Amino acid sequence: MKAEIVSIGTELLLGEIVDTNASYIASRLPALGIDLYYMHQVGDNLDRLLEVYHRALERSDLILSTGGLGPTEDDLTREVVARALGEEMSIDPQLERELRQFFGQRALNMPENNLKQAMLIPSARSIPNPVGTAPGWWAEKDGNIIVAMPGPPRELHQMWENQVAPELRKRSDGGILVSRTFKITGISEGGVDEMCGDLKKSANPTVGVYAKPDGIHVRIAAKARDEQKAAALLDPVEARIRDTFANNLWGTDDETMQAHVGKLLTDRGLTLATMESCTGGLLASTITDVPGSSTYFRGGLVTYATDVKAAHGVDPQLIEKHGVISEEVAAAMALAARTELGADIGIGITGVAGPSEQEGKPVGTVFVTVDHKSKRHSHTGKYPGGRIDIKNRIVATTLFQVRRLLLELDGIETSNWRR
Ligand code: AMP
Ligand code: MG
Repeated sequence: MKAEIVSIGTELLLGEIVDTNASYIASRLPALGIDLYYMHQVGDNLDRLLEVYHRALERSDLILSTGGLGPTEDDLTREVVARALGEEMSIDPQLERELRQFFGQRALNMPENNLKQAMLIPSARSIPNPVGTAPGWWAEKDGNIIVAMPGPPRELHQMWENQVAPELRKRSDGGILVSRTFKITGISEGGVDEMCGDLKKSANPTVGVYAKPDGIHVRIAAKARDEQKAAALLDPVEARIRDTFANNLWGTDDETMQAHVGKLLTDRGLTLATMESCTGGLLASTITDVPGSSTYFRGGLVTYATDVKAAHGVDPQLIEKHGVISEEVAAAMALAARTELGADIGIGITGVAGPSEQEGKPVGTVFVTVDHKSKRHSHTGKYPGGRIDIKNRIVATTLFQVRRLLLELDGIETSNWRR
């Protein structure tokens, strides 16, 4: 089945909102065996919407749209679908009752404009929307399916999960695409690509290498009749990837580095504490995004000003001698975090987030130390980008360094890893 997505709304074209609905839907189509050929973003304009719908009806089997189902003048989706299919809209009495009930239950008067949302055409049935006023439309005519869903992501998501995806799964004829992602650190993108070797030539499953903020991802994707046959294609390739990348491979699919590090700490019964300067607490925040982080995270200090660093155990003479942006100060911060907060591992971060240089050190310079009583890792980096990019990069690097230290405590050699 060939599909196109149409995201409707002038806000999209003004750059006021990002089209998360399209990526939400697109990411779910491979598992349904539906091939997506085009994505469109169109403003609230009848002519341009009709043009896109006519074109899509000619060349595709399925149109999935979001937005434009509200009660206002500029909500045109129903009108467009009716015109594209050459049908007249009329008020559906059952839908009108449900709509009046929705308002009645909330002790609100229904504005007459909302009656638009009770309209249907002969080829369409409504898709219930328990979390909003706009029902969706499922229209089917001459071998084409048009599914119109609401714009608010929460409403779209529940409609997709509960009604649209199950129905599409029944209709879809072709096989499904199942993918697995393996996350690797300590090797460059080119290095990972090279190590994949002849795997990259495989047609099913396909193997792709992608650079991401948390490392290099190897994604394998198999096309098959069902999950079981896909697994049979993926399993041997997964085994080879695990064997090739060994300890450089730290996670799969939706796993995050903070969750992975949390698990390593929990398994070893170790605790962590942080002293951050230029990241302003982002590391502590990221660590505590993981449920259960209280098991291993003792706490974090944000020592932004130099005298606050000194007040929390960093020797002022050291700062005087080496400057606050230095490897020595990062190491002292890590030690202070470990001792002041009573943790097994302390982390110190000092650097220049920008936009101007500091102590003659350029924007993006960072010193990170991960300190354990028997081992210490110091890392010096220089990152491009704005303040937020730099802060994110530092946090990713730091978590990577924590993992590295934990593996070294287990006797695993990581000295040839790069970052
Ligand atoms: P609409 O149904 O067009 O009135 O859209 C209602 C609201 O849903 C918009 O104001 C946005 O906040 C949100 N929305 C609509 N389309 C999208 C989209 N493609 N991606 C993310 N949010 C959207
Ligand atoms: Mg709109």
